[in-house]
Amino acid sequence: MPPHPESWLRVTPQGLYCEPGGFFIDPQRPVDRAVITHGHADHARPGHEAVLATPATLAIMRARMGEAGAGTVQQPIRPGETLVQNGVAIRLVPAGHVLGSAQVVLDWQGSRAVVSGDYKRQRDTTCAPFEPVNCDVFVTEATFALPVFRHPPPEEETAKLLKSLALFPDRTHVVGCYALGKCQRLIRLLREAGWEAPIHLHGALATLCTLYETLGVPLGPLAPATVANKAALKGAIVLAPPSAVQDRWARRLAEPVVAVASGWMRVRQRAKTRGVELPLVISDHADWDDLNRTIDEVGAPEVWVTHGRDDALVHAMALRGIRGRALHLVGLGDEEDDAPQPEAAA
Ligand SMILES: [Zn+2]
Repeated sequence: MPPHPESWLRVTPQGLYCEPGGFFIDPQRPVDRAVITHGHADHARPGHEAVLATPATLAIMRARMGEAGAGTVQQPIRPGETLVQNGVAIRLVPAGHVLGSAQVVLDWQGSRAVVSGDYKRQRDTTCAPFEPVNCDVFVTEATFALPVFRHPPPEEETAKLLKSLALFPDRTHVVGCYALGKCQRLIRLLREAGWEAPIHLHGALATLCTLYETLGVPLGPLAPATVANKAALKGAIVLAPPSAVQDRWARRLAEPVVAVASGWMRVRQRAKTRGVELPLVISDHADWDDLNRTIDEVGAPEVWVTHGRDDALVHAMALRGIRGRALHLVGLGDEEDDAPQPEAAA
C-alpha cells in the first residue's frame, strides 16, 4: 500500500517540507533546498542555498532579488522534465498564474501529491495554461474561496477601461496593477482589444515588462510615465503599482481616473474606501467556481488548503465526499496586490 502523503509531506514553520526528498516548497525562511512555484514575493523569498524552479521563475527571481538572492545553486526544470531527488520524482506543470508559474508534482513510492501554488483557469496569453494532474492529495490556495467571488471575463473588464477612455479623452487613466503578472496580462488584454498607442509605465513596473518581452511575451509600445510631462499623458493609459495610484504621484496626473485591476475589486466597499473610481475585476487567482471545478478535475480524495478562505472550501468539498484539511500556512498571500490589505493602507 503506497504511503499517505501525510507521512512524507509535512507542514513545518518554514512551510511544506518533503521529508524523503529533503526540500521545502515555497519556504518562508532561508533553507538549504527549495522548490519555488512562482516568482511572487510571498512564494519566492531570498536567501536559499539550492533553488529548483522553472527557467522563467528563476529569471524572475534574479530580476527581483539579484543573482545572490535567487539562490546559490539555481536548478531549472523544464516542462516535461522529471528530476529525482532522494527517490522523490519532481515535475513542474503549468499553473496558469503568472509567467513561469508551476504546480509541483511529487511522486514517492506510488503516492502522488500536487502542490499547486497559486493558480487560475481563466485565459492568460502571458503564460502556459493550468494543467490538471490526477493525484492522491491536491494542495490548493483559497484566496477567493467564497461563492461571492466569481470573476467576470477579463475582456469585459478591459472594455470598461476603454469605454471610460472614450468618454473622458482628456483624462489620464491610471490603473493600479501588480508588477509581476497582472501588469503584463493587462497590457496584452489591451492590445487584443485594439489599443495600439504606447502604454505608460510607472518606474516600478519597467523591469519585469522588459523581462517578459525577453522571455517571449510581446507587449507592444511602452513608455515611461513621466508625471512632469502631464500634458502628454492626457488620454493615456498609465500603469502603476496599486500603492502608487493612491498617493500623490497619481494626483499629479491630468484629472486622473483611478482604476485598480484586482480580484478584490469585486468587493465594492473595498474599491470605494480605496478611492478607486473604476474597479476592474481582473484576477490571477481561481474564483469560487474554478477552485471547485479544479478540485473535481484532479480527482484527489483529499485536498489541503494552504491559505485564504479555507472554511467555505473545506465545507463545499465535504458535501462532495472530499476530505479537506486547512494547513494555515503563514506568510502566503501577504505580498500580492490580490492579498487582503489593511483598510488603513487605503
Ligand atoms: Zn502568486
